[in-house]
Amino acid sequence: MRVPPTLSAVLSNLFKKPATNPFPASDPVPTPEGFRGKLIYYPDKCVGCRLCVMVCPAGVIEYVPEVRKVTFWLGRCVFCQQCVDVCPVKALEMSDEFLLATDDKYNDNLRWFKEDEIEALKKKLEEQKKAKEAAKKGAESQKK
Ligand code: SF4
Ligand code: SF4
Repeated sequence: MRVPPTLSAVLSNLFKKPATNPFPASDPVPTPEGFRGKLIYYPDKCVGCRLCVMVCPAGVIEYVPEVRKVTFWLGRCVFCQQCVDVCPVKALEMSDEFLLATDDKYNDNLRWFKEDEIEALKKKLEEQKKAKEAAKKGAESQKK
């Protein structure tokens, strides 16, 4: 009888430890340097230049003119990193987070700059504008 050429490999592998990673019983395989995971947005740094909106191939990013910031629907992101590379003020970064499964496409974890945050910023900007106008009026009336 002809012995299959792979038999010795099969037999030696029988006595070796499994080479699998039994996730989630163990940690996932570590991500390499430069891994493109979930996008992170730093609204405080953002200057509202809209370059990220222009380069995004997946229509993830939307400009909010009232507050001169952007919002992201990360459920559509293809992790290409073009927005990160184009941002002139480093307001965007790719993290190493990749466990993003959800049963709700509008999950808060997949959003940046959510509606309530936009509303809060709008309010803050309006208050700042009013305070500025009041200060201006006060200065003008003092001159008179
Ligand atoms: S990583 Fe790519 S797909 Fe995702 S938001 Fe940035 S430009 Fe769009
Ligand atoms: S490219 Fe950067 S600074 Fe410009 S809108 Fe996008 S996040 Fe903001």
